[in-house]
Order: sequence, then structure tokens, then C-alpha cells
Amino acid sequence: MSAAHALPRHLADAVPTGLLVDGEWRPAAGGATFAVEDPATGQVLAEVADAGPADGLDALAAAHAAQPAWRTVAPRERAELLRAVFETLVARTEDLAALITAEGGKPIAESRAEVAYAAEFVRWYSEQAVRINGLTRTAPSGTNRQIVLRRPVGPAFLITPWNFPIAMITRKVAPALAAGCAVVVKPSELTPLTTGVFAEIVRAELERRELPTGVVNVVPTSAAGALTEPLLADPRLRKLSFTGSTEVGRVLLRGAAQNVLRTSMELGGNAPFLVFDDADVPAAVEGAVAAKMRNSGQTCVAANRFLVHERVAAEFTAGLTEAFGRLVVGPGADPATTVGPLIEERAAARVAEVVQQAVDGGARVTVGGDRPSGPGSFYRPTVLTGVDPGARAVREEIFGPVAPVVTFGSEDEGLDLANSTDFGLVAYAYTRDVDRAFRVAERVDAGMVGLNRGMVSDASAPFGGVKQSGIGREGGEAGIEEYLESVYVAL
Ligand code: NAD
Repeated sequence: MSAAHALPRHLADAVPTGLLVDGEWRPAAGGATFAVEDPATGQVLAEVADAGPADGLDALAAAHAAQPAWRTVAPRERAELLRAVFETLVARTEDLAALITAEGGKPIAESRAEVAYAAEFVRWYSEQAVRINGLTRTAPSGTNRQIVLRRPVGPAFLITPWNFPIAMITRKVAPALAAGCAVVVKPSELTPLTTGVFAEIVRAELERRELPTGVVNVVPTSAAGALTEPLLADPRLRKLSFTGSTEVGRVLLRGAAQNVLRTSMELGGNAPFLVFDDADVPAAVEGAVAAKMRNSGQTCVAANRFLVHERVAAEFTAGLTEAFGRLVVGPGADPATTVGPLIEERAAARVAEVVQQAVDGGARVTVGGDRPSGPGSFYRPTVLTGVDPGARAVREEIFGPVAPVVTFGSEDEGLDLANSTDFGLVAYAYTRDVDRAFRVAERVDAGMVGLNRGMVSDASAPFGGVKQSGIGREGGEAGIEEYLESVYVAL
């Protein structure tokens, strides 16, 4: 099966639109398909096979069957497979970026950056595959040795969101394969095309090297819950790794409890962006644009609440208003665009509602505050001042190009505001005082802290949250641990 409709011919021919089960692309068992749309135009890009519960179980059976062979493949061979995939991803950057923009709406420059970021996970875990270390020591009593062996946890089910259609996949698939786990991937129903190309790159490389092709299986579906339930109930599955909303994460954790699965949860955020009165304010404005506007504000690490000391609030707000006013809203494929559409109409309508609720509660719009006319799910970059700390814009993950500014008077008050949320993925802080910077890093409830920076993500660093933002870490040395068990041997 291959894609049709509004994709350029050369891309349409390269995009598999079936299910990948046991090394073969095939239609869904019932023959069903679902449509993937371009959020900039609403046009259908392709029809993709719609996996049902039986297809999901076939994919798990294939991963389970491939698992014993895969775990015995030499670490060096696993590393070299990943290295080859990394090189192909880099070589295919333009095709992959065009697809990310087509199905996800991102400005093309951001899509290219996503491919580079995604490829880095593959390179990093190609390097880690040969560095899986156990432990050996003499027991404190001196009576015996303690040896800790490491082994793959087993078949893993990987569920990913739409906001980074390839990076969220490689962040899971690369460490899983490096550790020796076979996988079933369920991409977001909104962005399955990029996943298809990635999966074909891995499948072809496995085949070329005569390695088991059933190691990577992909099941796009329009009915995620129905496909997932039987997998979580099946004892052949040993690991669940999820990136998405906290709400869905909670449902999956309940499902994973049945067979006591190993779980990794990368969930929602509500990142505070603190600007203290000793900050370099122009640098904070620049960092704020980076932390807020990537993917039109649709990232889990998007700065959600701008907590600004009252002495610098006017300068910061004026700078942010001007910077947002300069951004160019449009289709991601236009190289002049800096802010693309939101993922779907529903998302744009929700952002409009959140802004309206803040305005009704007394907030003032200094720039934006509306949707441009014409097709596509666009929303204009917006700054809100005088926002009530109880407003939805402050309490909820906005997931759109809207920056609510709330002021504070002391460091303690700023930190209390920052921590007054159930989430704890990332926090940003701007200050020139190094002692204060460390106090913030030590006291803020977050798994990651950006100090005088609006970007923290790096394939070689442990990414993840505290509180309801998740369990476990992806990236860095920690990421592969999520796919390994320890076996203690006393001798
Ligand atoms: P979502 O939770 O709606 O969907 C995520 C994935 O879960 C999709 O593949 C979806 O099909 C699937 N899903 C939905 N219901 C399911 C069910 N009942 N059973 C199994 N799978 C189900 O999230 P989204 O809208 O795709 O992504 C946005 C969310 O993801 C935001 O909250 C964002 O913060 C979060 N996110 C977190 C990280 C992180 O690393 N912490 C990274 C990116 C996105």
C-alpha cells in the first residue's frame, strides 16, 4: 500500500501506509483504513491501515517470537544496525521533514531540527548498546560474591503522541533495540506517516543484515483503547512505554497493573518560566520565545506560565509582545513561517476558549488573542497580562501559542507559584545570581531545569518528569535502563 492524495508524488511513493507485522507491510485484518489530514489545509494526505485488536495481537506475537533471537544478537551488531539507521535518517532529512510538516503542521525548519534530534537518539543508543554494565563485588560479610547481570525486559509496547512524530518514536525504539527488546509501536493516529518511513528504514536494515525483521512492528489505529486493552492483558507483553497526556497515562497505568508491567510514562507538563528581578531581560524574552513557541506551543516542555518579578514585568511583557508580533503565522511548508497551525481544529478552538476565559476573568491581551481568517487550525501568538492565577491558562497545559504573565514579589513567592501545580516536567528560570540559580534548581518541582536557557532537550540527557508528569527517564544513560532488568546472582 502506498500514500496518495495531497502528498507530493515522490513522498507518496515512499510512505508505507500499511501495518508492519513480522517484517511485512500488510492491510488491517478487516481492511479498514483511516484518513490523515494536513492541519494547514484540512486536505486528506493519505489513507492508512486501521489496526484492530487482532492486528495488535499479531504484532505482539511477532515481537514475542523475535525476542529470543534478538536478545542474543551481539551488542556490537545491534549497535551497528542503529548506526546505519542513524545515517539513513540523516540522509533522508528532507523527505522526513516534509512529511512531519505535512501531517503535523510544523514550520519546515523545525521539522528538519526534529529529524536531527530524532537521529541523535539512534546515534546515542548505537553507542550505548555496547556499554550495558552489570556489577560484581564481594558481599559486605565477605562470605560470597554478588554479581548483577543485565538482560532485556522483553517485548515492549510503545505508544507515542503527534507533537514529535519521529523523535518520540526514536527516543523509545532506539534504547529498546539497543537493550535487546523487540517492540510494537503505536504511533498517534494524527501522524502515522513519518513513523511508517522510519519503520521501513529499520525493517530494510534488519533484512539487509539478516537479522530478525519481526523485532519492530507498527500498528497505526483510529481506536487506540480497543487495540491496547488486549495487549496489556497479554502475558507475552513485559513493558509499556507511553508518551502523551497525563489523563491517558493514568488509564494505561491501570491497564498495566493487571500483569504488573514495567512502565515508563512521559506525560503532560505545566512549565513555569521564572524571570527574577536580576535577570537579563532581553535574554529572557529570547528564551521565552524559544520555550513557548516551538511547534506553536504544542510541546510538553513548552513554557506554560510566565512568572515575572514585578520590578521587571513591564519590560519583559513589552519585549515579549514585540517579539510575538514579529512572528509569522502560516503553513509550515512556507520557509517564511515561524508559527504553523495547531494540530487540529479542535485544538485551535480549545485555545480560543482558554484565552476567552482568561479575558473574562480580567486578563488583558497585549498581542494576538484571535484566529486568522481562512482555512487551517491557526491561532495567533498571544500574550496575556494581569492573569488570575486560578485561570485555566495558568492551571492547564495550554498547548498553543499563548503566554500568560503572572507577577510575583519575592523569590519564595515565585517558587511557591511555580510549584503550585500537579505537574513537574520542566522549569525555566532567568537570574544572574548563581546562588539563586542553584536554589531554584534544588527547590523547583521539576525533572528538568533550564537556567538562563529556553531549551533543555538533548538525546544524551535524562528527560522526564516528577509528580504527575511521569515515571522514568528517556535519553542519556538512564533511557536504556528502562528496557533492562537486573538479575542478582550470589556466588
Ligand atoms: P494523548 O494522550 O491524547 O495521546 C497520546 C497517544 O496515546 C496517542 O498515540 C493516542 O492515540 C494514544 N491513546 C489515547 N487514548 C488511548 C488509550 N485509551 N489507550 C491507548 N492509547 C491511547 O496525547 P497527545 O494529544 O497525542 O499528545 C499531547 C500530550 O502529550 C501532552 O499532554 C504533552 O505534554 C504530552 N507529551 C509529553 C511528552 C513528555 O516527554 N513528557 C512529550 C510529548 C508530549
